[in-house]
Amino acid sequence: MFHKLLITTLVIILFTVSPAFAEIQIKNLDTLPNKAIPENYILSPAQKDKYVQIKTVSAEVYHIQKIIPVLNDVDLTIYLVKKHAGIPETGLDDLYGYACDDLIYLFSYSDISDDLTRNVVAHEIGHVVRYYFIPQNSLNKYFKMRTKGENKEGYFNDPEELFAEDFVFLFGSESAKKIVYSPEYKPPGPAEKEWILGKINEDLSIPLFLVYLQSCTF
Ligand SMILES: [Zn+2]
Repeated sequence: MFHKLLITTLVIILFTVSPAFAEIQIKNLDTLPNKAIPENYILSPAQKDKYVQIKTVSAEVYHIQKIIPVLNDVDLTIYLVKKHAGIPETGLDDLYGYACDDLIYLFSYSDISDDLTRNVVAHEIGHVVRYYFIPQNSLNKYFKMRTKGENKEGYFNDPEELFAEDFVFLFGSESAKKIVYSPEYKPPGPAEKEWILGKINEDLSIPLFLVYLQSCTF
């Protein structure tokens, strides 16, 4: 009994004090609890050949970690869900991914390809990087710098999506970038890259998403 307690205590101490345990984990998941995704999401069965593959996802993660070593200290779990996801009321029946704080769900999808999967991985990691390192007021500043006050309509022109797409453009692999850049603003350049890296490398004692309310984006 004493040993069990001691081991439990040691494990707890190790996990709470050592940042060396932070890592990006990739796990297969047969399905997921309803509360993990918005209520209007509907999961449906997927064929095995439409499952997102761990090797494709880890290749993109590895690529991004090489460019941004700080991400080695980030705790993030990427779940590869063996289901299609859709929002029937909007007619969307093939959702690719969903990011919440330090969790990413990647769903199985019909037109599966390595390039698109790697693009989605980089996009969702872009969302997580925003949640971790960039407070809302800084994101607003970034958006102003990018759009110069021009406000275009459309899903990918919103600050969160523009940031995630910029992240793919600046830090994604060649494979991820084969998928067309979605916002209607012109793609980012060296100034944006420097701005984002500056934010990521600021010395944060705690991930921002632990300070604010939960953030989730498709
Ligand atoms: Zn997104």
